Amino acid sequence: MSFTLAIVGRPNVGKSTLFNRLVGRKLALVDDQPGVTRDLREGDAKIFDLRFTVIDTAGLEDVTDDSLQGRMRRLTERAVDMADVCLFLIDGRVGVTATDEVFADILRKKGARVILGVNKAEGKAADGGAVEAWALGLGEPLRLSAEHGEGIDDLYYILRPIG
Ligand code: GDP
Ligand code: MG
Repeated sequence: MSFTLAIVGRPNVGKSTLFNRLVGRKLALVDDQPGVTRDLREGDAKIFDLRFTVIDTAGLEDVTDDSLQGRMRRLTERAVDMADVCLFLIDGRVGVTATDEVFADILRKKGARVILGVNKAEGKAADGGAVEAWALGLGEPLRLSAEHGEGIDDLYYILRPIG
């Protein structure tokens, strides 16, 4: 049986980069600039022999601070409803932000099944962020580097029992 994984988290943590790596194609636009990707994007993902559907939540990049929370909440809730499991990404180099805490609350309140991913964890720059991430209360943080393909094998072992 297959399953659906939603990648959620605030803008710029590397959701689309990870989506592209899992799909193996540049379906989602990755950019430093805000306003590049829109809404939800679905793709067929593959890690080794494991195949599943992955959803990239975008469309959060182009909104002002006033509307970000509402938009973020609606989009994340939609993705959670579509998904069997969520990969909640934070930026390990930045550490846990107030916005990350809002996301953690949304996921908790929705009762979502969550994998906590600490992205940009290549090298040592994310060591502090990976420790901080425990405080989100979402279990053991999984260190990932979407850009360099690190931690994908660990993700495989977490996802395999679901698929
Ligand atoms: P999104 O807004 O969450 O979809 O984030 P993007 O995938 O668009 O990435 C935002 C920025 O972070 C881009 O400049 C990426 O190249 C960069 N980025 C993504 N993954 C990694 C990573 O594993 N390590 C580092 N150092 N940068 C990354
Ligand atoms: Mg994106």
